[in-house]
This record gives sequence, C-alpha cells and structure tokens, in this order.
Amino acid sequence: MTEKHFPFSLEAVRKLAETTPTPFHIYDGAGILAQVKALYDAFSWCPGFQNYFAVKATPNPAILRLLHPMGCGVDCSSMAELVLAEKAGFKGEEILFTSNDTPAAEFKKAAELGAILNFDDISHIAFAEEAIGHLPEFVCCRLNPGKLKEGNAIIGKPEEAKYGFTPDQLFEGFRMLKARGVKRFGLHTMVASNELKADYFVETARIVFDLVAQLSKALDISFEFVDLGGGIGIPYRPEQDTVDLPRVGEGVRRAMDEMLVKNGLRAPRIVFECGRYVTGPCGWLVTRVLHIKDTWKKYAGLDACMANLMRPALYGAYHHITVLGKESAPCTEVYDVTGSLCENNDKFAIDRALPVLEPGDWLVIHDTGAHGHAMGFNYNGKLRSAEWLIQPDGTPQLIRRAETLDDLFATLVPTL
Ligand SMILES: *Cc1c(COP(=O)(O)O)cnc(C)c1O
Repeated sequence: MTEKHFPFSLEAVRKLAETTPTPFHIYDGAGILAQVKALYDAFSWCPGFQNYFAVKATPNPAILRLLHPMGCGVDCSSMAELVLAEKAGFKGEEILFTSNDTPAAEFKKAAELGAILNFDDISHIAFAEEAIGHLPEFVCCRLNPGKLKEGNAIIGKPEEAKYGFTPDQLFEGFRMLKARGVKRFGLHTMVASNELKADYFVETARIVFDLVAQLSKALDISFEFVDLGGGIGIPYRPEQDTVDLPRVGEGVRRAMDEMLVKNGLRAPRIVFECGRYVTGPCGWLVTRVLHIKDTWKKYAGLDACMANLMRPALYGAYHHITVLGKESAPCTEVYDVTGSLCENNDKFAIDRALPVLEPGDWLVIHDTGAHGHAMGFNYNGKLRSAEWLIQPDGTPQLIRRAETLDDLFATLVPTL
C-alpha cells in the first residue's frame, strides 16, 4: 500500500493559480531529492554508482539543475535533450546518449559534448564513426536479450522490441570497437518499463553480468560500467508498493560479486537511467472541474485534457485522483473523468469512485512528474500548461509558462 499524498494546501495552489490558471503541473523538489537519495543509498556499496536522469521524463532545466548536485548525470536520446543538458550545465561523461534510429547530427553533437555514446545497433558503429570522424574512447552498447528475458507491458517482449544488439552481435560489435581503438567499454540493457518487482532488476543484472564475463574473456576487454537502464516503476495505484530498492541493490551486489569479482574480473560501476522513479511520484496535475454531465454515464469534465497527461489514454494507465477539500468525503459517485478533446479516449479515469463533484472543484491527478507534461501535444489546438517547481526550501518557482495561441501559431507560413 502507498498512501497517495499531495504535499501542498488548497490555499497554496489557489495562490499559484492567480498567476497561472489551471491546469498546471506542480513538482515537489524536496521529494525528488529524497527519491534520488534512496536510490543512491541502495547502491552505496558501489563506487561510482550514478543515475543518469532520463531527460525525456521531465525535460526542464530547473529539474536537471536540481538533480546535478546530487551526483546525477543525464540520459539523452535526441538533439533537444542534448541541448537541454548542455544548457543546464552538464558536461562530458555526465551525459549519456542512449538513442535509437539516430540521425548523424545527433551523434556528432553528443560527441562534441564529450558524452558517453550508447549504441543501439551494430550498424551504428560505422555510422557514428562516419558522422563524427572518429569513434570516442568510451563506448557503451545496448543489449536486447531476446528470449533470455521476458519484457513487460510497456516495452513488450524483448524479441519484438526495436532496441539493442543481439548477444551474438555484441561479440562482433565489441570486437569491431576494440579493433577501431575504443578503450573503455560499457554494456547497457533496458527490458522493462515501470517495473515494480525488485527481483526483476536483479535477474536483468545477472543476464548482463553473464555477458560481461563472456565478452571480457572472449575479447580481452574490461567493462567500466554496466548500465541497467531506466524502468524502475512507481506505485501509481494506492494498493501497490514502492520498489524494494535495498533488495535491488543487495541482489545486484551479490550477483556482481559471484559472477564477476570472484572470477577475477573488474567490478564495473553500476549506473541507471531512471526518469520515472525520480520525478514521477513528485508531480501532480492540478485541474478544476468545468462540467458535470449525467447521460448514460456520469462525466466530470475537467479543464485539463490528454494534451496535459497522455498516459491514461495511451496505456490505459491508472492515475490516482484526489479532490482538494474533499479528501475525507466518502466516494459515493462513479465518474468518467474527461478532458475536452474530440476523442472519446480523452479520459483520465473511467468508472472512478469519487466524492460528489461540482463545477469549480479542485482536483489533483497524482504521479504526473514523469512522462506527464513531457508527452503533451497540441491536437485540437490545446495548449500545454505551465510547470511549477516547489524548491526544497518551499519557494515556488515557475519553471515553464503556459503556451499561448501565439506560440501555437508561430510556425504558420504565412503567419496569422
Ligand atoms: C524511457 C527511457 C528511460 C527512462 O525510463 P523510466 O521509465 O522513466 O525510468 C531510460 N533509458 C531509456 C533508454 C529509455 O528509453
């Protein structure tokens, strides 16, 4: 069980709404730092342990700057994310570039920043060498374990996922990299998204360590890091539990000891690329009820829509909803909680038991800190919202203003 809390008062939220009308996202800086600390604590046994925050989860420089002093790097997968990382002050190997289907210009930019390149495919070795003019000294490759490992709902079965090298291709790939002068090596895999079971990550680590041992011996190379990707899940539902991170840390430590250290192999540093785990539970979408509609079903229509939070429509994902000021009211009504897009899947919740709602009620949709605002889009001309960061000292900081119609129309030729 995880209690769904919202750390700010209705009064505080009303105050923010005076300058940024609802809907908007609000992030709890202190909470974000606590998440990072728990992850680092679980791997305190591992020198050089690092989380490269997946920029795509919450691509805002204020969030990146909050994470930087905690020792986090950034994981980028596009030009925009590389530029954001650069502007937010990340340098060199603090930047990991885990892309796929990668344009030449992005390899070039990543190399210029001194980022660690994480290749998604064997063909990218020659492609990146051509794009950059040479290969960097440190290269990581992404494993797709295929049938060695079951995936989960968001990423799907590894053998049907577009990402990564097959194990055989890794032998060939690292042989090529070594022959072309690459000196430092990493191995990455990410086969699950939003996974809650601690042992899943330990099993994944075992698959990667096994390959690290085989590759090290076959090619006489050593691995500087093992990147277990992102994918640490969060309890979106109140009946779910948070991932047992100490169990993940301890399981990975034991596996490394048994499979690498005891075989005389170098102990690689463990890194992750977690986004959701870090910011997901520390963000909320604040929205108000516009209309209550009673037809074949009861509908609560909000001023937010799928453009502000796409996960329920995209994945059927559950997001908990709290009504501010009615936290202890009994949930006697059942609503579909909708947005205003001309799409019937524009629903934040279906058949959700809630207190009796009225127009004007303040709702918070929980766990929107990752892959929330970031997935926003402009269909139906809906504008993306503002984002607020409540700094760890309690000061509210507007970290993105809301879009305007001028923003929306800015790319039209000729202009309106
Ligand atoms: C999306 C993604 C992540 C972050 O995933 P989370 O679920 O937010 O932890 C990390 N690495 C890669 C390669 C990704 O595609």
